[in-house]
Amino acid sequence: MTFDELGLSDELLAAVKSAGYSEPTPIQAQAIPAILSMRDITGIAQTGTGKTAAFVLPMIDRLAQGRSRARMPRTLILEPTRELAAQVAENFEKYGVNHKLSMALLIGGVAFGDQDKALMQGVDVLIATPGRLIDQFERGKLLLTGVEMLVIDEADRMLDMGFIPDLEKICKLLPPRRQTLLFSATMPPEITRLATQFQTDSKRIEA
Ligand code: AMP
Repeated sequence: MTFDELGLSDELLAAVKSAGYSEPTPIQAQAIPAILSMRDITGIAQTGTGKTAAFVLPMIDRLAQGRSRARMPRTLILEPTRELAAQVAENFEKYGVNHKLSMALLIGGVAFGDQDKALMQGVDVLIATPGRLIDQFERGKLLLTGVEMLVIDEADRMLDMGFIPDLEKICKLLPPRRQTLLFSATMPPEITRLATQFQTDSKRIEA
């Protein structure tokens, strides 16, 4: 399998090439075409399998097809920790060099001021930890009704950290018609239940 066969745009293929990747990892080979065809997916994959690029690459292509709306992010990526959120932001910067995507990182421990400014200007991609996202929503700083794609990354760590009630709260704020991607290293019953609750006809992919 080569990257050329996955349905990505030439701009993305160029970004993959400059990252130095010769072929897609198993999770990328399965997830990228499914995400481009708007399917919900449940990816069972550990860190290190290339799962970040598996969702960031097709997301950039999907975002390039639509138009930004002020204060209405089109993509929401939820991460359990600030460090993981920052890593995903770096991936968007690396693979999205040929695209003008605006992005905000909503993580705890950072002053609200800069985040407020980014949200006012309008962002395509919001990368957040659940607690800070809820804080910002409750402060009236963002609207989530324009979200077309949701990623719940490291779902089993979210469970361990007690974030399931926050995730349920956030999902109620999103449009029901959206694409939902869930990644988890393991699938305990609580995560299976969450996937059933949040996803529609999800394709299960194992790395
Ligand atoms: P992740 O599982 O998303 O944390 O990615 C682990 C590492 O694999 C990162 O440093 C990526 O830059 C790298 N990586 C992602 N996709 C590929 C690929 N297709 N070939 C080689 N390395 C990759």
